[in-house]
Amino acid sequence: MRDLLGGKGANLAEMTKLGLPVPGGFTVTTESCNYFLKNEGHPVGFFEELKEKLAELEKSMGRKFGDSENPLLVSVRSGAKVSMPGMMDTVLNLGLNDSTIQGLIAQTGNERFCYDAYRRFIQMFGDVVLGVSHDKFEEALSALKEKKGVTLDTELEAGDLKELTLTFKAIIEEEHEFPEDPMEQLRLSIEAVFSSWNNKRARTYRNLHGVPHNIGTAVNIQVMVFGNMGEDSGTGVAFTRCPSTGEKKFYGEFLMNAQGEDVVAGIRTPKCLSEMERDLPEIYKELCGFKDLLEKHYKEMQDLEFTIEKGKLYILQTRSGKRTAHAAIKIATDMVSEELIDKNEALKRIDPNQLKQLLHFSIDPNAEYEVLAKGLPASPGAATGRVVFTADDACEWTERGEKVILVRKETSPEDIHGMNAALGILTSTGGNTSHAAVVCRGMGKCCIAGAGDITVNKKDKKFIASALGTQVLEGDVITLNGTTGEVILGEVPVSEPELSEDFEVLMGWADSVRRLKVRANADTPEDAKLAREFGAEGIGLCRTEHMFFGEGRIDLMREMILSKDDPDRRRAALLKLLPVQKEDFMAIFESMEGLPVTIRLLDPPLHEFLPETDQRGKTEKLAGELGLSFEELKDVIENLHEVNPMLGHRGCRLGVTCPELYEMQVRAILTAGIDCRKRGVAVRPEIEVPLVGGISELQVIKKIIAGVAFELRDEINFEYKVGTMIEIPRACLTADEIAKEADFFSFGTNDLTQMVYGFSRDDVGKFLPKYLEDGIITEDPTATIDREGVGSLMKTCVQLGRKIKPGLEIGICGEHGGEPKSVKFCHELGLDYVSCSPYRVPIARLAAAQAVLADG
Ligand code: PEP
Ligand code: MG
Repeated sequence: MRDLLGGKGANLAEMTKLGLPVPGGFTVTTESCNYFLKNEGHPVGFFEELKEKLAELEKSMGRKFGDSENPLLVSVRSGAKVSMPGMMDTVLNLGLNDSTIQGLIAQTGNERFCYDAYRRFIQMFGDVVLGVSHDKFEEALSALKEKKGVTLDTELEAGDLKELTLTFKAIIEEEHEFPEDPMEQLRLSIEAVFSSWNNKRARTYRNLHGVPHNIGTAVNIQVMVFGNMGEDSGTGVAFTRCPSTGEKKFYGEFLMNAQGEDVVAGIRTPKCLSEMERDLPEIYKELCGFKDLLEKHYKEMQDLEFTIEKGKLYILQTRSGKRTAHAAIKIATDMVSEELIDKNEALKRIDPNQLKQLLHFSIDPNAEYEVLAKGLPASPGAATGRVVFTADDACEWTERGEKVILVRKETSPEDIHGMNAALGILTSTGGNTSHAAVVCRGMGKCCIAGAGDITVNKKDKKFIASALGTQVLEGDVITLNGTTGEVILGEVPVSEPELSEDFEVLMGWADSVRRLKVRANADTPEDAKLAREFGAEGIGLCRTEHMFFGEGRIDLMREMILSKDDPDRRRAALLKLLPVQKEDFMAIFESMEGLPVTIRLLDPPLHEFLPETDQRGKTEKLAGELGLSFEELKDVIENLHEVNPMLGHRGCRLGVTCPELYEMQVRAILTAGIDCRKRGVAVRPEIEVPLVGGISELQVIKKIIAGVAFELRDEINFEYKVGTMIEIPRACLTADEIAKEADFFSFGTNDLTQMVYGFSRDDVGKFLPKYLEDGIITEDPTATIDREGVGSLMKTCVQLGRKIKPGLEIGICGEHGGEPKSVKFCHELGLDYVSCSPYRVPIARLAAAQAVLADG
């Protein structure tokens, strides 16, 4: 019932049914939230039902909400369908006022504890519900500690805390009236949690994680249990398996005499569960029993929150635990071996995007370096960057093109934008379940938490590593090793990641399930080799323009372009380019060993190969080499200038106006094939024409290709295809015509999206973030195929093309080919293959398998 009750609410209900000790409570549904957000009010009968459920809770607890003798206190927590850790609001200890506090003192016999709970409630309520600045409360607390000459909150006595409740109330009352009526407190808190669904950090989180904005949050109202009632009380977080490595080992942290927020906020560094086994063996045993029960029930690694109140254990929450990609794969494959789940379920469990983490760099094991400080290895990987101390600075520096490491005492959900921008996060406090650790793991970002021997001074923008006495200032370069927890001064060499055996096993399962083939976009023999290592079954796009930028090539290219009016000179330049191209193709054919290789004829506008005229030095040099004056060369370059180069003289239009160029490329492809065959290397070239808008363009280019092939007819002893990119809307709409001339289609969804939306690929970044933020567009169409617009044209194209040629080979080679949701769409469309960058090949393989499994 996650849709209606949210993840937390559904699991609380489920655990209650399983007989686990869950504090009593009830859940206000996501439907109520959505109603409230839409209508700015509650549905008829809402309060009556709320009171009814509260009365049931009172009855089961034998306490009364708002009672001055035996009060019931509750927590009010958000809980959406998808876990959004720390993004929305929570209010604890609700139900306290100047009269119920007396009842709580009578119930607990612990005045200090009661005033501590009360001052926390007033602060939380003031901050979360009434919007009073958190800093005002913190300043008042610091002032009181200074007055009392103490440094820790725990050193404050009951009287001090009582005084603090008065100060806190006075702070609130400068701006708002503090509601003494618990029912009013409850109403306002529920509404605040509902509204927090739309706060900035929650929206940012949803945008980052592709969570829809319209599903709303549920609100869980639960009886309070206290982990801070003395040394026989405590609280903690545990994972049923290790979230970093996936190892089958109970893993977690706890703090005695503390509330949950103390563990998560990283204010005190918690203890490991192994210490609990030693110090509280009975409770540990009970907790282990619950852990086993929950894992068996959910058949999934669980992340639990528990509290011990005066020696009694309560489970406050369970959810499927966030984990590194490495752990996700190990857990899924282990669970198959343990017969908890089957292979298909294991495949469904892995988020294809998370595989990116496995491709992360790590510190070269042979590198020598001095460790500045050590912390907990909270999220693996390695990152080098300049130190910054605030989330805003992380964003600003990144926008300037710097790579940064965000260094903080601890992080909070407010820092989410900066954490997203930084390459790595270092915190001086907090454990493996602190905010920084959990969020970084989810993002696949390197993080070291709880590096206790550094002191962070945010105000002066520096930190001091006490072991070496080193001072590190803003802008200094450090390296983090998130796998060991080492903080290193300066840059350290990093090495490529190694994929585990479990990864190979899982990929093997994916390959046996998927229908779509996966090819790679690769322009060099090195990329082709890497692509094959990642499992590519061919090259779906070799962009030949990239081959002209190398040393010795760009000059020939420029000579060819600039000798426009001198065909002999142009041919001479092309003749020199021919062997270079041929060599490239041979090397690629060799690395692909007979797998299909789609080679695209030149696509970009020619001016991209020339220097900018404002670079006078370079232009003068080039003019000299070509025997032209600076002015003459400047004129040629300016003549090539276009107002809209993306819609200009590019793609097959180049072949139409300069057939010699394509002729040379086709000759290079075919003769490379011939020579490879002579060496016994199998070849399967697919010659691809870019930016075709209609059949006549393709016919012109095919004639050029046929001319070269005719010349080489006696030597060509391999099959090759001639096909086209589909990247212009007109090509989709006339695909039945184009199919008559094409052996294959390949969707260039980068250009297709640009042209369908009328967005410039190069400028969309200026306004797209605003569109996404305001919900004008819900998903970035340059990353995920826009099903309604671009997708519907693709569908038309497939239908028209295959109507003429039923078995027509159709693939995709735009950036979308490695994006899981788009891969799913391509599967649904019945494409033959997707093609993407080598590093995304494993992602596409898994996504293609998941697409089959989603079909049932
Ligand atoms: C495309 O347009 O999707 C494509 C693959 O070509 P390019 O990105 O090179 O324009
Ligand atoms: Mg294109």
